[in-house]
Amino acid sequence: MPWIPINNLRLSLEEHQLLRTPKVCPRCGVAPGEVHKSGCTVELCSACAGQRFSCNCGGQHDSFFARWTGFWPGELECIALGLLCKWQPDPMNSLPADGQFQQRSAGVDLNRLIDLGWHRLFHMKPSPPVAEFLLLDQLLVRLASCGFEIPDEIVDGTSEEKAAFLLDALVEIEISARVK
Ligand SMILES: [Zn+2]
Ligand SMILES: [Zn+2]
Repeated sequence: MPWIPINNLRLSLEEHQLLRTPKVCPRCGVAPGEVHKSGCTVELCSACAGQRFSCNCGGQHDSFFARWTGFWPGELECIALGLLCKWQPDPMNSLPADGQFQQRSAGVDLNRLIDLGWHRLFHMKPSPPVAEFLLLDQLLVRLASCGFEIPDEIVDGTSEEKAAFLLDALVEIEISARVK
C-alpha cells in the first residue's frame, strides 16, 4: 500500500491546495467542527458510511461523529493512503496515479477509497460491542505471548466465554505470583 510518509503529508496537502483557510461545508454552509444541517448531501451516515441524505440503512446515526471537518469526507484519507488519480476527459474513467502525488495534476481518488471499502474504516463509528470484542482478543493474544495456553474453543468462542476464560487466567496468574 502506498503510504505517504507523514512528513510529506503537509507537502501533499499544499500541492493539492488543501491548506487554504478553513472551508465551510459547500452544501449546508456550517463551519468546521459543526454538525451538518438536516438534509445536507455531504454528510455521511456514521452507521454505514454511505451518504446520509440517501441512506436507508436504519442504523443509529451520530451526527457529531459525521460533523463537517473542513475537508470533503475521504479527501485527507485518500492523500494519506496515496489514493490518487488522473482525471480523463471521461470522468467515469480515471487513471490510478499513486506515484504522481508530487505532481499537481493528480487528484484524490474517492471512488477507489469507496471501491476498496476503506472509507468504512474512517467514516463508520465503531460500536462498543466491537471495541469490547477486539479488546478481549487483544488480551488473549497478550496472554498467549506470555506463554499461556489458549484452547481453540476459547479462540473461536463467544465474548462471554472469552471474558470468563480471561478472568480465570488472571486469577490463576495472581495466585501463582503470590505462591512464589
Ligand atoms: Zn453540510
Ligand atoms: Zn446508513
